[in-house]
Amino acid sequence: MRKVGLLGGMSWESTAIYYRLINEGVARKLGGLHSAEILLHSVDFEKIAKLQMEGAWQQAGKLLVEAATGLEKAGAEGLLLCTNTMHKVAGDIVDSIGVPFLHIGDATAEVLIERGIKRVGLLATAFTMEQDFYRGYMQEKYGIEVLIPEPRDREIVHRVIYEELCRGEVLNPSKKEFIRIADTLSKRGAEGVILGCTEICMLLSQEDTAIPLMNSTEIHAQAAVKFALNY
Ligand code: GLU
Repeated sequence: MRKVGLLGGMSWESTAIYYRLINEGVARKLGGLHSAEILLHSVDFEKIAKLQMEGAWQQAGKLLVEAATGLEKAGAEGLLLCTNTMHKVAGDIVDSIGVPFLHIGDATAEVLIERGIKRVGLLATAFTMEQDFYRGYMQEKYGIEVLIPEPRDREIVHRVIYEELCRGEVLNPSKKEFIRIADTLSKRGAEGVILGCTEICMLLSQEDTAIPLMNSTEIHAQAAVKFALNY
């Protein structure tokens, strides 16, 4: 089994989900008492979130590059960055490591292609929805068109992520809002919706809506299992 390195803590709420899903995936595949070989560097999210708000992405990237090289030195054979937003600095990480980097956009795009989805809605932080690093990546590399909510709804999604989900709060009114926003995206022509923030799966699951949901946390964790077991 290959050792998987996780860059986590962004937030730790979703990293805990990654940890469980990767272990469950390995156990399901190998049976018995098998579990995943995982190295985790979990950061202090307060620091990262401040740098995000200040637009100091290079500085945030530097912290993650240090963590990534540390994981590689500690024996990680492949790395996952357990947040969509910080994939803004994925290039810096890829350039500084010698092991594979499992990009969350690649994993998600593979599922979209499998399901024949070419136009998809995105629920994520304002950074991921509004900047080009995610939507541009999906469009240029895979020809997938990514629709984002209107400004007022983007604000709601962003606020719920940072003020509720990243603090472990899962509230019913927010869930209703997310369902409404996903619905609006679907009416605008989205064939499915990406839960493009790794905490959103705490709030919303496929049982809540008929619109196909792509849970980036689960998809990314599954990619880690495939990598670990080399299948
Ligand atoms: N975990 C979230 C994401 O997937 C948001 C937190 C962050 O800004 O990293 O984008």
